[in-house]
Amino acid sequence: EILVEQLHKSFGDNHVLRGIDLEIRQGEVVCVIGPSGSGKSTLLRCVNLLEQPSGGRVFVGGSELTHPDVDIDAVRRRIGMVFQQFNLFPHLSVTENLALPQRRVLGRDKAAAGRVAAENLERVGLADKAKAFPASLSGGQQQRVAIARALAMGPEVMLFDEPTSALDPELVGDVLAVMRMLADEGMTMMVVTHEMSFAREVADRVVFMDDGVIVEEGPPAEVIGNPRHERTRHFLARVL
Ligand code: ATP
Ligand code: MG
Repeated sequence: EILVEQLHKSFGDNHVLRGIDLEIRQGEVVCVIGPSGSGKSTLLRCVNLLEQPSGGRVFVGGSELTHPDVDIDAVRRRIGMVFQQFNLFPHLSVTENLALPQRRVLGRDKAAAGRVAAENLERVGLADKAKAFPASLSGGQQQRVAIARALAMGPEVMLFDEPTSALDPELVGDVLAVMRMLADEGMTMMVVTHEMSFAREVADRVVFMDDGVIVEEGPPAEVIGNPRHERTRHFLARVL
């Protein structure tokens, strides 16, 4: 589970996150929506300390990431992250892309890392691409490799930042299907997305952010289907 308390983040005098409180329980899928610049990526990046919060506290699985004595590498190992850009190593095969972080960060030997790589490629439907290089894969396949790479680390929670935004429309469905499978398996997930149908169907809760605050949150049928706030309605009118 993820717990965010009174999170603030400023870049210089740009006060981007203005007191975010958010709890994501174990096994819960929360989709974060909101206009460009509202602070969605910054929030996600503060949850695994890719950005240092300016104030407030973040807990993952009961450990406080924002505690001064935290072993940040140890905590970060428990958090998988998938970005819009897949960030695969172009000179490594798919299997090597999955094995390298396991060996470097978790200290697994080559055989064990290869085994876990194979299991996770199977999970995302790409067992037949084990020996391929990223450049020979479609964007959707590359993103599924990136998801498998994160899963191979055995994370407790998964963060997704617009994982389908860089994909051609016909490739989006395969990636969303993998995310839906993870949700069905009970993975705790925080997903920044513009895919309103995914949010409607898969999210337990939708959070609408604007200007660094959570304006409204609740079940998708409420936040997307019947928003209470004018700002949410205005945003949805543009994206739906
Ligand atoms: P989008 O939908 O376009 O991805 P977003 O909601 O993810 O937008 P953020 O990327 O979190 O928005 O950006 C929020 C604000 O923080 C913006 O004003 C942005 O310029 C600023 N910002 C984000 N990262 C940095 C950074 N590393 N340095 C300075 N300013 C930043
Ligand atoms: Mg963003």
